[in-house]
Amino acid sequence: TYVVTENCIACKYTDCVEVCPVDCFYEGENTLVIHPDECIDCGVCEPECPADAIRPDTEPGMEQWVEFNRKYSELW
Ligand code: SF4
Repeated sequence: TYVVTENCIACKYTDCVEVCPVDCFYEGENTLVIHPDECIDCGVCEPECPADAIRPDTEPGMEQWVEFNRKYSELW
């Protein structure tokens, strides 16, 4: 799955939401988040993010962001 990370804070762009084929972006407190059970890992959103905030969860150091995305997307 892909995860939204700290560069998303205060970003006003929603290019990622528009390209996601499964609509798995949700509003968090001050970022968007990706629902980890709905993301199909297509990778389309990553290059669309102007803030470079979307990363694959397999990158080192992503553990806290995996939890963050799950926590806020499950509030919906
Ligand atoms: Fe949506 Fe694909 Fe990005 Fe997952 S990787 S959030 S399915 S656009």
